[in-house]
Amino acid sequence: MAIAKRGVPATPSPTFEYAPAPEATDHVRIASKYDLFVGGRFVRAHSRRRFATVNPATEETLSEVAEADEVDVDRAVTAAADAFRSWSALPAARRARYVFRISRLIQERARELAVVETLDGGKPIKESRDVDVPLAAAHFFYYAGWADKLEWAFPNRRPRPLGVAGQVIPWNFPLLMLAWKVAPALAAGNTVVLKPAETTPLTAMLFADVCQQAELPPGVVNIVTGAGETGALVVGHPAVRKVAFTGSTEVGKLIQRQLAGTGKRLTLELGGKAANVVFDDAPLDQAVEGIVNGIYFNQGHVCCAGSRLLVQESIAGPLLEKLKRRLTTLRVGDPLDKNTDVGAINSRQQLDRIEALVRSGVDEGAELYQPECALPERGWWFRPTLFTNVAQSSRIAREEIFGPVLSVLTFRTPDEAVEKANNTPYGLSAGVWTEKGSRILWMAERMRAGVVWANTYNRFDPTSPFGGYKESGFGREGGLHGLAPYVELA
Ligand code: NAD
Ligand code: MG
Repeated sequence: MAIAKRGVPATPSPTFEYAPAPEATDHVRIASKYDLFVGGRFVRAHSRRRFATVNPATEETLSEVAEADEVDVDRAVTAAADAFRSWSALPAARRARYVFRISRLIQERARELAVVETLDGGKPIKESRDVDVPLAAAHFFYYAGWADKLEWAFPNRRPRPLGVAGQVIPWNFPLLMLAWKVAPALAAGNTVVLKPAETTPLTAMLFADVCQQAELPPGVVNIVTGAGETGALVVGHPAVRKVAFTGSTEVGKLIQRQLAGTGKRLTLELGGKAANVVFDDAPLDQAVEGIVNGIYFNQGHVCCAGSRLLVQESIAGPLLEKLKRRLTTLRVGDPLDKNTDVGAINSRQQLDRIEALVRSGVDEGAELYQPECALPERGWWFRPTLFTNVAQSSRIAREEIFGPVLSVLTFRTPDEAVEKANNTPYGLSAGVWTEKGSRILWMAERMRAGVVWANTYNRFDPTSPFGGYKESGFGREGGLHGLAPYVELA
């Protein structure tokens, strides 16, 4: 982008030339059109409307998907409500078997799912291959294990499924967010109507195919594609008993208002502006890797991204020097290349938002640094970016950018670090880097964040609950906590 010039690296990086190492796509078949998945079958949308999903790295249309209207959503919810009677009455061990089978099929089709995830959303293949898809399989595997053990999950209570769950997911981890939502719902005996995000519907369409392959009873999982309006119809349908939403805080607030007084259960997983706090006794090289992973992973399209780096003042100089040098080695470009570190920005709209916020950072007097790197001509790209001299009041320190942009602030004492870390309307995640175990615990107790990583970042496991405080939402996904929103306890 135009304002790049100011940050040329002080020391030229040792550059290694890599030959291109593209992942093959010939094993993948993307249909030119996808219908809605309702009652176990792909059905034409009543709306007769379609929209394109594109590859953000090339701007080429990959497929046309249906845009579900009110009648379509009603059909999907009705199919889910019908299926609920028999699904919830199945012996739990049989439900477990279906969920387990889904997990195995995701593993079997991992390569195909990873390639489609990368084509549709722009994330590097090494991430979809090594993180998104294996974690999605792991979630189904984990919750399959709970399906016939719910009495042990909630001792001395009688857990009962709720009914139809309406689930709306974002575009940053399409298949993984699907897994976080669908796996616990099914394991607890509920049925599902899921709405994927409009820019990344394709792995959900493949997942519909997986459900058919697993011979999941018709109507247990229904998938309706569309944009925000379709999402609002799913959330608002009177027969939906539980709503799970992941996305922006703005839409989360809308949904909370929409559902007030309806008696529907709700969990919200919204935005974040996490502090990644580095103390002067931290191993700096390790911390640099953690900072890079924290903010440049998935182009920074991560709700728990470590987007505010808080560095202890005494080590800010050497740490930033190492970090800037490291940025020059990040490879930005073709998401299908196995050596790519930073892929394409998910949509034109998201790129506009990132550019506007970065401009505001420059206007507010922060100092911008971007490594020199060539960007492909077509597609949507943004260089890994960091800002120093950031004021706490500046927009880039307060607002979620959801892009590869790091704001660096400093602190002197642990108290000041806590004060600054908590100075945000969000509270999803945080990182602490220090050699002292006691300081990790001291910080974790004081930071208002649902997840605190110590000497690591963006580490996920299906057994561990995830979720926020304050404007980052409420409710937990993952682990035993992730089952609770899907059961009624008698
Ligand atoms: P969004 O909240 O608009 O979209 C998320 C999902 O909600 C999509 O499936 C969308 O179709 C659906 N949706 C939109 N309006 C709806 C409504 N009124 N009722 C029900 N569903 C609705 O997010 P976005 O516009 O794609 O991204 C905007 C910002 O949101 C990003 O810049 C980022 O800050 C944040 N975001 C956060 C996460 C997260 O993981 N927490 C994910 C995506 C985006
Ligand atoms: Mg797409």
